[in-house]
Order: sequence, then C-alpha cells, then structure tokens
Amino acid sequence: MTQTQFRADLHCHTTCSDGTLTPEEVVLLAHEIGLQGLSITDHDTIEAYAEAIPAAQRCGLLLGTGVEFSCDFNGESVHILGYDYALDNAQINALCLRHQQRRKERNAAMLEKLRRRGFVLEASELPASGTVGRPHIAQAMVNKGYVATVKEAFHRYLAEGQSCYEKGEPFSAAEAIDVLHGAGGKAFIAHPHLIDRQRIVKKMLEMPLDGIECYYAKCTPDQEQRWLRLAKERGLLYSGGSDFHGTMKPPNTLGCSWVDEAVFRQIFTSSASTQRRQDA
Ligand code: AMP
Ligand code: ZN
Ligand code: FE
Ligand code: FE
Repeated sequence: MTQTQFRADLHCHTTCSDGTLTPEEVVLLAHEIGLQGLSITDHDTIEAYAEAIPAAQRCGLLLGTGVEFSCDFNGESVHILGYDYALDNAQINALCLRHQQRRKERNAAMLEKLRRRGFVLEASELPASGTVGRPHIAQAMVNKGYVATVKEAFHRYLAEGQSCYEKGEPFSAAEAIDVLHGAGGKAFIAHPHLIDRQRIVKKMLEMPLDGIECYYAKCTPDQEQRWLRLAKERGLLYSGGSDFHGTMKPPNTLGCSWVDEAVFRQIFTSSASTQRRQDA
C-alpha cells in the first residue's frame, strides 16, 4: 500500500461566514484533494460543525474544531484563531452570538455610509444567516453594478481607512483567548504577516497565546521561517492553512498550505481524536 503524506489544512471558510462552499462541500473537497485533516475556521461562528462533522465522519476525514475571531488589540484589528475547543461550551457560543449582534450594527452603519454616497443596498441584499461582513457587502455592490469587482469595493470604500469602513464595537483579543481557554481550546495569532508592525505581534505575545499561524497560503519560505523561529523562541505551537474562501478569494486554494500529522495531533488533542480514519 502506498503511504500518502498526511496533510491538514487548518484555516478555511464556508458559507457560514464569507466562503462560497457549504461546510459539507468543503469537507468533500478536502477529502477529494487528498487531505487527511481539516479545521474549519469561519469568522466568529462555529455553526459549520453541525453539518461538517457528519460529512467528515462519512469520508473519514479528521476534523478538529476551529474558529477565527475578529478582535481588537490596542486599537488594531487582528484575527485570533481558536482550535480544539468544545463545541457545546456555553461561553464560546455566547461570544459567537455577541459577534453576530456586533456585526448587525456594524453592517447597518456601513450600509448607511454607502447610502450617503449614493450606493443603495437593502439588508435583504445580504445573506440572511451566518456571519455577514464586508465581503458580502462588496459582493452586493458588484451585483448592483456599483463596482466591477469585490477588490475594487474594498480598495475604494470598505478597506480599513476608506470612507465606508466601520470598525464596529471592539471585542478584545484577550477575551477571545480567555473564552477559548475556558472551552478547553487553544488560541493562535492568525496570519501575523498581515499585522502591520512586528512590534504589535511581539506585544500580542504578552497575552497567554498558544501558538502562531506560521504557514499561510502562499507565504514565502522566508516569511514562514521568521514566524517559526519566533514560535520556537517562545515555546509556542505553530499552525498553518490556506485561508480558503472558495471563489471569494480565488488564489487561496484549499490545501495550498498545510501542517503534518505531528502538528495536527499536537493541536487537536481532544476534538479530532474520536474521528479515526475509517481506512486506517
Ligand atoms: P470583515 O470580517 O467583515 O471585517 O471582513 C473581513 C474579510 O474581508 C476577510 O475574510 C478578508 O479576507 C476580506 N478582505 C479584507 N480586506 C480585503 C480586500 N482588500 N480585498 C478583498 N477582501 C478583503
Ligand atoms: Zn474571510
Ligand atoms: Fe483572517
Ligand atoms: Fe480567514
């Protein structure tokens, strides 16, 4: 029997946030492209797991729990990846609910800013469920013919610092880490290369984080080594993944970045352990 290399993609999104494939479709795609492990990290919601777990069990994919929380750290917008938490933990579910409320208010504020510039979008033009955010607003602007592409919508109006951007109520990174720990999970800094200044990453590491996302989509080996060195120096775990969003972010293909079995098992000590590969 040929030995295939174990690969696990620990960062991807579904239709429960701003991805374009359903949880089941992402699981099936992961299996089809030969991944053995996966973690779905939707923005501010864990609802993908209700559908993803049975799908993963059917095809023998190891699925560890994941989430990507939108956070504020000293005024900077940062993302915290959470792994291996218990899905039925009350605090993590409550935090996700609060995020949905925060987003409702934030989206309404962004629609109002757009309206003042003559771009009229109704709430009914955005998805009715799941985590709704700027990519959905950008897509609605494309659908209305206000801009040619999602990229243009961000560049001209929705990116941080642009006229129709709204930060929303800040939810602290420290709280997300605390809630993840309370749910038996681990907290990682997501895509540190997207955080403006390395000083901020170092400052973030004063919080009780468990790891750093060192492998990310098409980061260069130089970038990866820099974060791996930092994780090693601090005795932290490392993670990696594609940040797959389907057609919402075409260059980030599922599995374009991954971790091996040893790393997967270090991170997922409880949530993936009950799902053994059926063909193992
Ligand atoms: P939100 O959570 O509503 O702030 O939206 C964040 C999402 O927007 C992330 O998934 C990013 O991938 C996406 N995003 C951020 N900046 C851009 C950009 N300049 N162009 C396209 N997508 C972006
Ligand atoms: Zn996203
Ligand atoms: Fe992110
Ligand atoms: Fe992401």
